[in-house]
Amino acid sequence: MTFLLSPKKERILPVVPLREGVLFPHVETILSFGRPSSIAAVEAAFRSDRLVCFLTQKGQEIEGTNEIKLYQIGTLGKIERLLRTENELNAWVKGIGRVQLESLEATTPFMVGKFIELPEISEVSDETTALANNLVKNFQEAVSLGKVVDVMMVMKLLGENTPTEIADQISYILDIETAEKQNLLETLSVKERLLKATDYLAHELKVLELERMIDSKTRRKFDRSMKESILRERKRVIEEELGEVAEEEDEIKELKQKIKKVKMPLEVEKKAEKELKRLSNMNPNHPEFSYIRTYLDWLTEMPWSVSTPNQVSISQAAKILNEDHWGLEKVKERVIEYLAVMKLREKKKKEMKKEKSKEGGPTILCFVGPPGVGKTSIGKSIARALGRKFFRVSLGGIRDEAEIRGHRRTYVGALPGRIIQGIRNAGTNNPVFMLDEIDKIGADFRGDPSAALLEALDPEQNHEFSDHYLEVPFDLSRVMFITTANILDTIPPALRDRMEVIPFPGYTEVEKFHIAQKYLWNKQLVSNGLKENEIKIADEAIYEIIRRYTREAGVRELERCLATICRKLAKKVAESKKISKIIKRTDISKYLGPRKYTETLAEKKDEIGIATGLAYTEAGGDILFTEVALMPGKGNLLLTGKLGEVMKESGKAALSYVRSRWEQLGLKRDFYKNLDIHIHVPEGAVPKDGPSAGVAITVALVSALTKTPTRMDTGMTGEITLRGRVLEIGGVKEKVIAAHRAGLKRVILPKDNKKDLVDVPASVKKDIEFLFVSHLDDVLKLALKRKNGRN
Ligand code: ADP
Repeated sequence: MTFLLSPKKERILPVVPLREGVLFPHVETILSFGRPSSIAAVEAAFRSDRLVCFLTQKGQEIEGTNEIKLYQIGTLGKIERLLRTENELNAWVKGIGRVQLESLEATTPFMVGKFIELPEISEVSDETTALANNLVKNFQEAVSLGKVVDVMMVMKLLGENTPTEIADQISYILDIETAEKQNLLETLSVKERLLKATDYLAHELKVLELERMIDSKTRRKFDRSMKESILRERKRVIEEELGEVAEEEDEIKELKQKIKKVKMPLEVEKKAEKELKRLSNMNPNHPEFSYIRTYLDWLTEMPWSVSTPNQVSISQAAKILNEDHWGLEKVKERVIEYLAVMKLREKKKKEMKKEKSKEGGPTILCFVGPPGVGKTSIGKSIARALGRKFFRVSLGGIRDEAEIRGHRRTYVGALPGRIIQGIRNAGTNNPVFMLDEIDKIGADFRGDPSAALLEALDPEQNHEFSDHYLEVPFDLSRVMFITTANILDTIPPALRDRMEVIPFPGYTEVEKFHIAQKYLWNKQLVSNGLKENEIKIADEAIYEIIRRYTREAGVRELERCLATICRKLAKKVAESKKISKIIKRTDISKYLGPRKYTETLAEKKDEIGIATGLAYTEAGGDILFTEVALMPGKGNLLLTGKLGEVMKESGKAALSYVRSRWEQLGLKRDFYKNLDIHIHVPEGAVPKDGPSAGVAITVALVSALTKTPTRMDTGMTGEITLRGRVLEIGGVKEKVIAAHRAGLKRVILPKDNKKDLVDVPASVKKDIEFLFVSHLDDVLKLALKRKNGRN
C-alpha cells in the first residue's frame, strides 16, 4: 500500500460560492453564475491564470446582506471557456484538486481567499481497483435503469480512469444531499470515498429498481384505450399543425354525409350515428374498425327511402305479359287478377290515409312448375309492367336461418341475410323480389329458415323485418315477393298457406314449337349479335330439335340448342362466310351433332318384363320404365333403383296381388318359391317415390312371369291395393304431357282421374288414346300383348 502525499502549497485565489451541489476534482462540467460577485470573480480569473476556488454554501444568503457561510473545503477549478448570455455567465470548468480555506483576504468586488492544497491519500491497491470497477458497473446499471446523467460524464466514466478519478466523478453525479456530497469531498481517503460512494449508489439503484417496477406496473394498468386516445389526440394535433387532414377523418366525414343523405328512419339514423362515433374514436388498425365500417356501409347503402313509383296500369301489364310470353293463358290471367287486386288495395289505402288498415296485405304469389317453363321470365315481366326493379335469389339448399335473417355482428365476417342483401342490390325498397326454389329449403339444428322466411313474407309482420346483422328493422311491406317451386309437396305447410299457388304446367310439343318460333329464335339471334329475322328457321327444323335433341317439360334445353345454332351462325357471319338464310331440318345435325334421342318410345319393340310408368317429378312429368328380372332362387323380392319406402311397398303389394291371382294368370301355385324376383326402376340415381308406380310394377311383373310382352306404346299410372283395385293419383296433366312428349299412343289411367283430363291441352288429347280402369285385371288386358288368344 502506498500513500501519495502532495506537498502543502498555499495559494491566493478568487472564491466562487456554489448555492448547491459540490464540484469535485477530476470532473469537467459547465457551471452557470448569476451573482455579480461570482461573475466578477470568474471573469477576473479567466483574465489571469484561470484558477478559482469553488466553495459550497452552507445555506441560503442571510437576507439583506451579502454574508454567506461557506464550507471550508472546496475544489480548485480551472476555467476552460466562457460563454456570456443575457444575465448569466456559463463557464466550462475543470476540477483540479481539493483545497482548504485558510482565511478570507477580500470580499469585494469578489471574495478572495488564502488556500492550502490538500494532499490526496490515494491507496492504489487491488481493493480500490475492485471497488472502483464495481462502482462503474453499478453506475452502468443505474444508467440503464433510467438514471439521468450528462452524456459527457458517461463517456468519461466508461473510459480509462484511476480509482481516485472514479470516486470523484461518481460522487459528483450521485443523487444525494449537498451536505452528503460535501462530506464525500472532505473524505480524503480514496478507499473510504469509494466505499461511501458505493453505499450511496447501491441505495440509489434500489430506488431506481423500485421506481421501474412501480412504473411498469402502473403503466400496465394504464388503460390501453386511454393511451390510444392520447396518442390519437397527439396525432391529430400534429396533423393539424402540419395542415394535413387525416385520411380516415375524410372517411368519417364522408360517412356522416352519407347518413344524412340516405334519409333513414330516425331510429336507424341514431344507431348509425352512434356507430360512427365509436368509429371516429377508434384506431383504424383495430380489427373492429373495419367491421363497424362495413356495417355503416350496409346501413347507408340500404334503400331506406328510394322507391320506384308505382304505375299499375292493368291493360299495360297485360300487354307486356303477352309481349314477353306465348301461351300461359291461365297464368297471365291470374297474374293480371292479382295486379288488379293490388291496385285496388293501394287505392283503398290511400283513401284511408293514415288509418291503419286492419286487413292483411296481399298474399304472395307462388309459381309452381318444372324448370324452364317461364316462371322467372313471368316474374321479370311483372316487374317491367309495374316499372319496378327485379331481383332474384335462390333459396335451394338453405338450412340455416342465418341465410335468411343474417348473422349477428359478433361473428367474424358476419353479413346480412339474403333478403336484405337482395334489397340492397335491387337499390329500391319496392322491387319485385323473386325467391326461387322455396321447396328446397330445409330445417336443422341451425334453426328453421322457413320461419324467418315467413316473417319476411308475412304482410302483418314484414313492415318491421329484423335482420340479425342490420339490428334495425327494415320495412319490407312494399316489396312484391314472388316465390317459385318445382313441386308443391315439399313447401313447408305454414309457408304454403300464405301463398297463392299458380301452377305452370309443362309445355306440349306444339306449345314449345310456338315459343321457339315466336320468341326464342329471335331472342337468340339478337343476343348473338345478329338481327331479328336475319336468318329464319324452318318449322320442321324446330320440331327436329324438340323431338330429337331435347326431352324436357320446359324450354330450357330447346333454348340452349337454338343458342348454339345462333352462335355458330354468328361466327360464320363474322368470318364473312356464306350462310343460307334459312335453317332446314337437315341442317340441324351440322350444328348440334348427332341426334340425342334416336327413336320415340312408340317406335320401340314390345318387350317382356318391362312396363312404361308415368311419373310426376320435380322436372315435370316423366316416363319411368319398370323392369323385372326372374332368377332361380328362394322366393326373395329385391327392389332397386333408389326407391322410396312407398314405392317399395307398391312392389310388395304387386307381388302379393300376383300370388293371389296365380290361377287366373296361368301360373303355378308355388311359382315364387323357386324364384328370386328383382324389380328395378332405372334412370340414374334419381330418387323415386310415390304410390303411382303400382300399376306399372304389376304389369312388368306379370309380363315377366307369364312371358307376355307389354305394349311399348302404352304408358300407365295408378296406385294399387292388394285386391287389385286401381286408385286415383295426382299430376295427371303433367304425366299425360310427358307421355305425349315421349311419343306414347295410349295411356292407362285410374277411372277416378277422368275429371283431370279437362286440364290437358287439346293438342295432346287428340294424339292419345285414354284407357280408364278401376281394376288391375283391366290393366293387364290393356297393357299386355295378347298371346295365343289369352289375356
Ligand atoms: P323457370 O324460371 O321456370 O325455370 P325461365 O323463366 O328461366 O324458366 O324460362 C326459361 C327460358 O324460356 C327463358 O328464356 C324464357 O324467356 C323462355 N320461356 C319460357 N316460357 C316461355 C313462354 N311461354 N313464352 C316465351 N318464352 C318463354
